Order: sequence, then C-alpha cells, then structure tokens
Amino acid sequence: MGRRTGNGTRALLTLALAAVMTGCTAGQDAAGPADAASRRTHGKGSSGGFVVQYRTGGKAASATAYLRTRRILDKAAERLNDTVKVPHRIPFVVRSCGAAEPAYDSETGTIDFCAEHVDEIRDRFAHVGQGVGQGADRQGDPDAADAHVAAVLEETAYHESAHALIDRLGLRFTGREEDVADQLAAVLLIGQGRAGETKALAAATDYALAAKETPFDPADLLDEHSLDGQRAANYACYVYGVQPARHEDLVGAGGRVTEDRAEGCPDEWEQARSGWQQLLAGHLKRQV
Ligand SMILES: [Zn+2]
Repeated sequence: MGRRTGNGTRALLTLALAAVMTGCTAGQDAAGPADAASRRTHGKGSSGGFVVQYRTGGKAASATAYLRTRRILDKAAERLNDTVKVPHRIPFVVRSCGAAEPAYDSETGTIDFCAEHVDEIRDRFAHVGQGVGQGADRQGDPDAADAHVAAVLEETAYHESAHALIDRLGLRFTGREEDVADQLAAVLLIGQGRAGETKALAAATDYALAAKETPFDPADLLDEHSLDGQRAANYACYVYGVQPARHEDLVGAGGRVTEDRAEGCPDEWEQARSGWQQLLAGHLKRQV
C-alpha cells in the first residue's frame, strides 16, 4: 500500500520487519488525542473525514515541524474533505515508522505518514536542488526546491488517501490499485489548475530521481507498484494530456513522455479523471 517502492519487495520486507520489531502499526497510538490542526480539518458537522495527528518528539521531530509549519497535510485533508464525503474518520498519523514507507493500514483505518519518508524526500531534493524548478531562472532556488518537496508530500497524502477511500467506501475497479491510487493523486493535484500541474510534475521528477538512485532489480517487476520510472512517465503524461500546448517540453528526447504515448495522453488523463469521478459517484461534494 506504500506510496513508493524504490526497491520494492525489499522495502516492504523491511517495513514488515520494522513493524514486528518496533510495533510500528498505525493502530497502536492512533487512538491518541488529535490536536487543534486535526480538529480544524475534521469533516464539518460530522464524525467522518480526513484528520491529521502529529506525533512529536524523537526521530519524527524534524519532519513533524516541517509538515506542520507548511500545513501540508492539513491543507491536503481540507481539500479531501471539501471533495469527498466519507462517513469514517481517517487520520493521517505523522510518526516515525522505522522505514520510509507511508501506508494506509486497513486494519486500523489510519494512514501512517512516516517521518522517514518526509526526511527522504527533503534529502533527495536537497542533494539535487539544482534544476528542479521550471526553467533556468529557478535553478538552485531553495524556495523552488522547497515547493517541490511540499508537492511530493501532498502527492503522497493523496495516494494514500486513495487506498483509504477504496477500502472504506468499498470502491471496485479494474487494474492495479497502486496505479489507480496514483491516478487519484494526479486528479487532485492537476485539478488545482496550473499550480497543480507543477505539483504533479514535481511528483514525476521525484519518481524519476528515485528510479535513477535505485539500481533496477528484476524483483521489482513482481511488486504491486509500477516501476518508479513508469510512475514518473504516468504523471507527466497526465499533465501533458490536460494541456498539451503548455507542456510540449515533456515530450520526446529530454522529456518524460515518448512521442508515441503523448498522442494518447489526453485520453489517458480523461480516463483517469472520469474514472475517479465514477468511482466516487454518490460520495462527491464537488466534481473532480
Ligand atoms: Zn500505495
């Protein structure tokens, strides 16, 4: 269920081991008191909706401060609650998990938003801070790098929320759940307009960097997730598909989408958007 694999099966095994060794299961301290931010993002006038719970201190301190200051998860929860009516309370629990594997836990109905994942993304963009902005004028701009980190973490939140919605609302679909979850993340990001397209491209960049960092292992083909390089191409295809004229630089040599695929990207985007629109029929407060 985790957002990323990097090294797929190995990461999942590590997570499972960490869970056994450290008791890192979402349910154990998810029942703790929600803080003010959590109450603010709580579904209005009902007991359901996405909320945020911060576990402060220890290894999670830096990540918690980062997320809290920027209200990344609080804003994501607000957007989700403004979009979908969900009768269940679904907490994002910010905590140290022992691995950089955020995941929805279907047993507890909570989303573990691992501090290690936040640290990993910050670290990744800190080391490749050059050239992550859109255009040469933003190269090396720490604000641009920071915006990318925030965008990637927002994408993580939506990806994991898709698993939660699929489980809690009993949604039925075809294809791989991990791909379907990425599609909801793309829909919720790109639906924000031009700024959202930039956020989705940040997610594409992050997956492309992860693919570069991790040597290909044939075992990754057996994983439930698509390869990081494929996920990067999918996000880029959706962004190109929504506004081809604006994103011609994504296509062909030096881009993230092949010319062959680019032709079908408007349809791919529309399938993803209208597919989720249908999946959430009866649960939507507004169109996606
Ligand atoms: Zn997932």
